[in-house]
Amino acid sequence: MSFSVTVLGTSSALPTSDRFPSAQVVNLSERIFLFDCGEGTQMQLRKFKVRFSRINHIFISHLHADHYLGLFGLLSSFALMGRKHALHIYCVKELKSLIDFQFKYFFDSIGYEIVYHFLPNCSSLIYEDNSVKVSTFILNHRIQCNGFIVEEKPKEKKIRKEFVAEYKPTIKEIVNIKKGDDYVREEGLCISNNEITIEPERPRKYVYCSDTSYIESIIDVIRNADLLYHEATFAAKEQVIATATQHSTTLDAANIASKSNAKTLLIGHFSSRYKKLEPLLDEARSIFPQTILAKEGLRIDL
Ligand SMILES: [Zn+2]
Repeated sequence: MSFSVTVLGTSSALPTSDRFPSAQVVNLSERIFLFDCGEGTQMQLRKFKVRFSRINHIFISHLHADHYLGLFGLLSSFALMGRKHALHIYCVKELKSLIDFQFKYFFDSIGYEIVYHFLPNCSSLIYEDNSVKVSTFILNHRIQCNGFIVEEKPKEKKIRKEFVAEYKPTIKEIVNIKKGDDYVREEGLCISNNEITIEPERPRKYVYCSDTSYIESIIDVIRNADLLYHEATFAAKEQVIATATQHSTTLDAANIASKSNAKTLLIGHFSSRYKKLEPLLDEARSIFPQTILAKEGLRIDL
């Protein structure tokens, strides 16, 4: 299964001439999950060639404008494009009334169903299919702010082809071998499971930590992410304003990545005061060397 993340927006609060507000796309073999939907997200989706029709699940971390203002435009475009299939939105319940209010004036009917999944104020599994699950957890911000984890489900062991060709196991035996059983025949032949199977690849994990101050209670929940996105709105010297606005500094993000054993840290949600971002990257790398800067259009394959 392909598993990639594309960054659509990296700016906090105010957009700049080259930085859009928050939005990221997770592509799981052409199933598209959208995380946050700041102003201009639909233009970014077009620019980076994400197919609108593949977007069936949108996750909104919290109700600060730079994380959801683009949603009204995107939903409206879906209607104008003749969308018929349902759209699932994961958000706090207040967002529904904002969307209902908008559409009251736009359309008699938008032509497709919006299925709302209201986010709890605690950790919870919110989506699951055959190969992947999405769960939420709580960050530490001025209003309820949910983080998200997209995680592959553990895959089954694979059985070696040579074994199948030689011994022709039954379907039931194949099922049991994939679960870890040895291969045993009535006449006493026994082949140990590790000789006839190949270990599956480790499940991959992406974590989206939108607006938050430094909070250690998330460390256990987000542990061992292949890719951890963590906001780093401010440089370390702006610690006072970071604390006041319940945002993180570069060092906060790097410490969370280090303590949670992330493979790669992606930092973003940069304050518009920073024209150059390399000093922010250098700060984070002083603690967590495997840090990269979010950039509009950046795609990371997990
Ligand atoms: Zn916020």
